Amino acid sequence: MTYQNFSLAQLQAIDGAHHLHPFTDHKDLRAAGARMITYAKGPFIYDSEGNEILDGMAGLWCVNIGYGRDELAEAAYAQMKELPYYNSFFRCSTPTPVLLSQKLAEISPPNLNQVFYGSSGSEANDTALRLVRHYWALEGKPQKNRVISRQSAYHGSTIAGTSLGGMNAMHGQLYGAVPNIAHVMMPYAYELQHAGESDHDFGLRAAKAVEDEILRAGADNVAAFIGEPVQGAGGVKIPPASYWPEIQRICRKYDVLLMLDEVITGYGRTGEWFAAQSMGIEPDTMTTAKALTSGYQPLSALFVSDRVASTIVEKGGEFFHGYTYSGHPVACAVALKNLEIIEREGMIERVRDETGPYFAAALKERIAGHDLVGEVRSFGFLGAIEIVKDKATKERFAPAGSAATLVRDHAIANGMMLRATGDTMILSPPLIWTKEIIDMACERIVKALDAAK
Ligand code: PLP
Repeated sequence: MTYQNFSLAQLQAIDGAHHLHPFTDHKDLRAAGARMITYAKGPFIYDSEGNEILDGMAGLWCVNIGYGRDELAEAAYAQMKELPYYNSFFRCSTPTPVLLSQKLAEISPPNLNQVFYGSSGSEANDTALRLVRHYWALEGKPQKNRVISRQSAYHGSTIAGTSLGGMNAMHGQLYGAVPNIAHVMMPYAYELQHAGESDHDFGLRAAKAVEDEILRAGADNVAAFIGEPVQGAGGVKIPPASYWPEIQRICRKYDVLLMLDEVITGYGRTGEWFAAQSMGIEPDTMTTAKALTSGYQPLSALFVSDRVASTIVEKGGEFFHGYTYSGHPVACAVALKNLEIIEREGMIERVRDETGPYFAAALKERIAGHDLVGEVRSFGFLGAIEIVKDKATKERFAPAGSAATLVRDHAIANGMMLRATGDTMILSPPLIWTKEIIDMACERIVKALDAAK
C-alpha cells in the first residue's frame, strides 16, 4: 500500500484522526488540514498537489546538501545490508561511528577530539548537561552544577532541553524543569542595543550579564555557560563580534565550562565547519545534529574537549548515560558520506566567499527597504527579517506574531518556504543555493511582503 492510493483529503482525515504533530495547535490543524509534502529534489520541495516550493529553511535547518542525493541513500542501503544495527555498549563498537569520530575530530576546533552520539539535538544537550555535572563531580566539586543560559535560547524539547532553553512558552514551570539553570540577556541588538552604544560595547555588555550571574551565584557553584553561537529558533539573533571572545574570557577567568550549541550552526552554515571557528573560540562541549547527516538520518554528535575527556578517562568510573541508537551504524555511514559531499563540492568555502556575501547583500538591497521590514541581518546562510508596523519606531503589529505568520502564509502561496518566529521571519537555506536561487527567493519574499501589506 502506498500513499499514492490516497487522495489528499483522505490523508488529511487520517492525519487528523491519528497523528499528533510537533509544535502544532491541533484544533487549527484539523480545521485547515496539513499540506502533504511528498517529494523533494535539490533546493525544492513538492506537495501532493504538485506545487513546487523553494525551501528557505533546508527542512528544519538541516538539509545542507539539498534533497535527492542518491549517494546518501546508497550509503544507507549498503550499511543496512552489511550491519543494520549494533550498539557501542559493553565493550563493543562498530566501524562507522569509529571512522566518523575520527573525521569529526579532524574538522572541529583543535581541542575537541572525542564525540558522544545520540539521535537528536535535544538528546545531545541532555547528554551535555549530565556530562558537565559528571565532570565537576569527578573533579571533586559536585556543588559546581549551576548552568547559565540565555533568554529566548532554544536547546531542544526534552525536559533538560526546555530547562536550558529560554523561550517563555516552552520553558514554563508547568512541565517541570531541571533545577539550577539561570537565564540572562541575549545579545539581541535590534531590541536591546542602546542608542549611541557601539556594536562592540553592546557585545561586551551582553557578555557581562553572564559574568554578573557567575558572581551572583558564586563561581564555585557554576558548572557551565551554554549558548547557540547565533540564536536560531529565537530569531536568528547574531551577536556582535566582541561577544563570544569575551564570553570565553569570562568562562576561563571563573573556571566555568563553555558549552556551545551548534545544532543549527554546525556543518557549514556559517561559512566554516562550525561557528566556533567563525567566532574564534574553543568550547568545552559542542552539541551538533541536523546537518551532520543533512537530515537524511537522525543523528547527533556531542563533542567533548580534551580537558573534559581526559578527566572522564583518567578518573574512570561509568558515566551512567547512553541511548540504544548512540553511534547507529547506518546514521554514521550516512554522516560520513554527507561530510564527504560537503567537502568534495566545496560548499563551505562557497558560502563563506561567494553565496554568503551575495545572500547578505541581496537581503539588504532587495528586502530591507520594504515598508514592513524593520531590519534584515544574516550570518553565512542564516538570515532574519524583522516585520514591523513602523520602521522608525520599530512598533510591531498586534497581536504579536500575526504579521509574520501572514507573511509566511503568503510566502508559501508564492512558492517560498520561510519560517515565522514571533515577529521575525527566518531563513536557513541549504548550502547548495546559487546566486540565481537567492534572486528567486528575494523575488518571492518581496511578493509575500507586498501581499501582506
Ligand atoms: N539546539 C538547537 C540550537 C536547535 O535549534 C534545536 C532544534 O531546532 C535543538 C537543539 C533540538 O534539536 P532536535 O529537534 O533534533 O532535538
